Amino acid sequence: MHGYLTLDERLDVLRAVDTERTWYSLDDKRVCTVCDRIFTGRQIDITATGAARFSLRCPTEDCPSDHRHWFFVHANPWQAFSLQELAPTYDGAGSLAVEHDGADEAKGAGIRGHRA
Ligand SMILES: [Zn+2]
Repeated sequence: MHGYLTLDERLDVLRAVDTERTWYSLDDKRVCTVCDRIFTGRQIDITATGAARFSLRCPTEDCPSDHRHWFFVHANPWQAFSLQELAPTYDGAGSLAVEHDGADEAKGAGIRGHRA
């Protein structure tokens, strides 16, 4: 069943069939909610069901699930936010630094004011 698709074609099929969750590469992992197995795009069983039509099957033998039963795997929960939350995190650090500088300036001005 494998082998008649190139790796690029395989990724194209995953993206075309599984439109709910983006496939960035064949090394992307999914967890099957039916059999609890974790697998990558390379391991998924791709079956041609017609001209340019494919169905995706869990690589576990006899598991009836398809891509609708597969969810993203995040080994580290912080990784789940890293892509989307990166910019807000940097903004937060930036405003914190500005606040800190402002406090220093106020302190310096206060000392100068006391001496004058
Ligand atoms: Zn499964």
